[in-house]
Amino acid sequence: MKSTGIVRRIDNLGRVVLPMELRRVMKLEVKDPIEIFVDGESIVLRAYRPGCEFCPATSNLIDFEGRKVCMDCIEKMASKAKGDELK
Ligand SMILES: [Zn+2]
Repeated sequence: MKSTGIVRRIDNLGRVVLPMELRRVMKLEVKDPIEIFVDGESIVLRAYRPGCEFCPATSNLIDFEGRKVCMDCIEKMASKAKGDELK
C-alpha cells in the first residue's frame, strides 16, 4: 500500500473529505458508491464497481483475490498467458 502523504481530520459527523486530486486520479465522481474494507489496522476505500474489473460485464463473475472478474476476461487472460508461455 502506497502512502499519499495526505492527512485529513474526521469532522463532527464522522466525515472525511477525499482530496479533489485523488478523486480525479481515481476517477471518482460525486455520488459514486465507495466500498469500505478493514485490513488489520487499516481502513481501505475502494470504488464500488459491482461488475467485472476489466469490462462492463455484471454476470458470470468470479471473485479472485477480492476482485470480480467475468468468465470472458478469465478466458482472455488464460489465452494470453498460454500465448506468452510460447515466447
Ligand atoms: Zn470482464
